[in-house]
Amino acid sequence: MTAERIAPVIAALPVPVLLIGQDDRVRASNDAVTAILGPNLVGNHYITAIRQPAVIAAVAETRMQRISRHVRFTGRDGANDTIYRVAVAMAGDDIALTFEDQTAAEAVGQMRRDFVANVSHELRTPLTALLGFIETLNGAARDDPEARDRFLGIMSDEANRMTRLVDDLLSLSRVEEDERVRPREQVDLGGLLSSVIKALEPQASAAGNTVALEIEAAGTMVPGDAGQLVQVFSNLIENAIKYGAQGGAVTVTLKPRKMYPRLRGEAVQIIVADNGEGIPTHHIARLTERFYRVDSHRSREVGGTGLGLAIVKHIINRHRGRLLIESEVGNGTNVSIFLPISQGAGVAS
Ligand code: ADP
Repeated sequence: MTAERIAPVIAALPVPVLLIGQDDRVRASNDAVTAILGPNLVGNHYITAIRQPAVIAAVAETRMQRISRHVRFTGRDGANDTIYRVAVAMAGDDIALTFEDQTAAEAVGQMRRDFVANVSHELRTPLTALLGFIETLNGAARDDPEARDRFLGIMSDEANRMTRLVDDLLSLSRVEEDERVRPREQVDLGGLLSSVIKALEPQASAAGNTVALEIEAAGTMVPGDAGQLVQVFSNLIENAIKYGAQGGAVTVTLKPRKMYPRLRGEAVQIIVADNGEGIPTHHIARLTERFYRVDSHRSREVGGTGLGLAIVKHIINRHRGRLLIESEVGNGTNVSIFLPISQGAGVAS
């Protein structure tokens, strides 16, 4: 086919395609490939457009052997690397390069590998401790009742840690499963908050903390999933107790409904405030990532799994609400949840 006839065909294709002639010059390209390799491709030697040795070698080998192959190509999209699988195939006497964007698929694969590595690591730590104590109890500490009691106490803590982790993992996967289905129940937020605070009283008094509830708008109802909202506020208030100041004061405030930026329609704000050590600004954006912690040692010490805020984020997304973490080192942390008042409102999904 002549260049005049083939160019419009290539130009019409939605996938990025580059056609290289026998003279190694680009015979045809399209907008999709220009977005990856840059403009003014046609007529130039293909090496000026693709400077990656693996692709250049694949083109040369395909021409010699007349056998198609695939090769990896790394592009750049703003500040991010993009990854393409490029099919290099004979097209008559020309060579056609077709680019397939693999960036999202690779990112998902990497996330899955990271997740499995994180879970394994989190489970291995308590397991190693348990195995160590079992061995000690079978040997050196067999006839030492005092040591036995102490070790059994630690073993029970470690086993509880594993249970919490598995519970949180299951919660996370359940929450992800129904994230697209908007909750329809009407929930009385004031009642829900006071029952969560009541349930956490023993934990607060053990930490020497007080938790106060300030309801500025009584009888506020929002469309929601009561069980999930209990989980959200339990996680946030527990964090305020765990990371708040020793003997500190936690305040939970339910604000009246009003319009907020980034939310369509009216919403209520619930603020969980503590006067703890606060969170350095550069950590804040990452706190909702699974297993992300400011201080892993501290989190484990207070029984954290690193999954609490990830669960909160997913539940709030399901409610089309917003999570906002504001903190100042030395001055404590305010975590706000914005929940839309009516079904149609909320963050656009
Ligand atoms: P964890 O189980 O470790 O508490 P979360 O996902 O609930 O996991 O929180 C992630 C991290 O965010 C915690 O490890 C802690 O470093 C930080 N964090 C959360 N809430 C607070 C808070 N109120 N004050 C200070 N740091 C906090």
